[in-house]
Amino acid sequence: MLPTVPSLADARAFSRRLRAWYRRNARDLPWRNTRDAYRILVSELMLQQTQVSRVLEFYARFLARFPSLASLAAARERQVLAEWRGLGYYARARNLHRLARRVVHEEVHVYEGALPAEPAALRALPGVGAYTAGAVASFAYEQRAALVDTNVARVLHRVFAPHLHPKRARDLKRLWAIAEAVLPRTGRAAWTHNQALMELGALVCTARVKHCARCPVRRVCQSTEDLDRGLR
Ligand code: SF4
Repeated sequence: MLPTVPSLADARAFSRRLRAWYRRNARDLPWRNTRDAYRILVSELMLQQTQVSRVLEFYARFLARFPSLASLAAARERQVLAEWRGLGYYARARNLHRLARRVVHEEVHVYEGALPAEPAALRALPGVGAYTAGAVASFAYEQRAALVDTNVARVLHRVFAPHLHPKRARDLKRLWAIAEAVLPRTGRAAWTHNQALMELGALVCTARVKHCARCPVRRVCQSTEDLDRGLR
């Protein structure tokens, strides 16, 4: 069996190249210009199963209508669903509303009206899975937290563990272990690293096409199709 977790040297080279590439190539998206946990949570929920271009149509309008967790908690469910109309997967909106009410009204003594920073505490909230918890912890609070969604799983699978099957629960756990192992040391660097991983999966190492010749991590990738890999 091939080793699953990359060496420290490979992990460092991977993250360094990834972050350098991100600084030059990242798209300017509104949820990347804030550390407001509520705004980041809204973006993450909207982005589940939905393309970025579609989310951009709804994101600013939703936040103009509900600019804070408190304003969302004060709304009726039908008002929240009305603002979500057109995005689909309405369970996301219902869960977001339930979450806001819980944090702001029902368990205010626990949360003090704000989203927690720790992934484990975030996961206890309605509609927040392991990925979303990691995303809010990393992108809002700059915690050194790993995150694995479909895009990230695909990239890590191709780069470090092509022998795994990301759809198998046991192998997905291994991909989470790889995601932890390749995180840089500081929370701030982890913010860039996580954004970059997702951006690479969206722009370069996509589900349909691998753009290996212009991929920043091709030198450490076990699935590269770039014939010049050894020369770079
Ligand atoms: S080298 Fe190719 S397969 Fe590897 S991460 Fe980059 S695009 Fe994906």
